[in-house]
Amino acid sequence: MCTVLHWIDEELQRLATQGLLRSRRIRTGPQGTVCNIDGKPVINFGSNDYLGLAGDPRLAAAARAALRREGTGSGASPLVSGYSRYHRLLERRLAAFEATEAALVCVSGYAANVGTVAALVGPGDLVISDAHNHASLLDGCRLSRADFRVYPHCDMEALERLLRRSDRYRRCLIVTDTLFSMDGDFAPLPELAHLADRYQAMLLVDEAHATGVLGQDGRGLVEFFGLEDRVAVRIGTLSKALGCVGGFVVGSKSLVDWLVNRARPYIFSTAMPPPVAAAAAAAISIVRSEPQRRRHLLQQADLLRQQLSRMGWNIGRSASHIIPLVVGAPHRATVLAAQLLRRGVFVPPIRPPAVPEGQSCLRISLTAAHSDDHVAQLIDALAAAG
Ligand SMILES: *Cc1c(COP(=O)(O)O)cnc(C)c1O
Repeated sequence: MCTVLHWIDEELQRLATQGLLRSRRIRTGPQGTVCNIDGKPVINFGSNDYLGLAGDPRLAAAARAALRREGTGSGASPLVSGYSRYHRLLERRLAAFEATEAALVCVSGYAANVGTVAALVGPGDLVISDAHNHASLLDGCRLSRADFRVYPHCDMEALERLLRRSDRYRRCLIVTDTLFSMDGDFAPLPELAHLADRYQAMLLVDEAHATGVLGQDGRGLVEFFGLEDRVAVRIGTLSKALGCVGGFVVGSKSLVDWLVNRARPYIFSTAMPPPVAAAAAAAISIVRSEPQRRRHLLQQADLLRQQLSRMGWNIGRSASHIIPLVVGAPHRATVLAAQLLRRGVFVPPIRPPAVPEGQSCLRISLTAAHSDDHVAQLIDALAAAG
């Protein structure tokens, strides 16, 4: 028998002892409301389907029409023959929605981040990241082979200290999530834009959790802060509030032309299936025409955060629909999650390496599809487990 992989069993055992082993649960049913997890009906607070669009019949109808015409696969990478009229429609709709010259659609938000960062900086350049940025941004920084520096979460003084020493580099790029995926808090975007201007750095922001949810028209935190003219590169995902899968970059036409020529995950991956592009285009129309979804979600989130704080839960710096309940040790997170699950409420435990040591939490993702009754059941289950 082959033994060269035995080390893996030892490592897995080690993860299990530390309470860090992960496994997958089988989900059936729609996202973001009541579904089945491992055969048990639960209220799902572990979905990024923030606007309740993943199961929307209008997205399914758009996908079905594209499926009938073009089939399931796109057949090739976008530069060969994988770029269909549905991809182009989606990019045009994204650019119109985001009020930018152009948009580029990638197979995932992960690919968009990695590809864009590595296309903007390289050896001889400097890239600076918030410590709590999403793994895909951090991986992009590493892959770029630029000098890579990290500042403590949202610490603008530390960022400025790094920028003061940036003039010996060819180019400098600052990268940040706008709404942080584990903390649910906002990046200080006005200060970031100011520092980027002052030190002539490029600013790239990742709106993955904010697209469709924040800002008057649902464009995200850059819109919320009124900084659309001052942020050069905006990235988002189709995988969360837009209820599909895929990532996108919006900005100038020359930015998109550059990425088409230089973003390796874009060039060397097969284009997304046309039905997904069609569904995502439908989702953008709904985000524009049904602002009540995001307004309702943000109101519910405000109420829930207040309630949780009053109950004595540590929700960190959350200011959004992503609300961590910080409990510290990884096993405390898994025990609390199991207690909630017994009461029919699913909230995923988040442990290192997704969060720093000692910061394990349960992460509540609220969606527009949760009813008052769903939220009340979450509160009851937390009070009982408390
Ligand atoms: C989810 C997420 C991504 C990745 O997006 P996918 O489309 O799921 O690959 C990127 N950045 C942030 C901040 C995210 O939360």
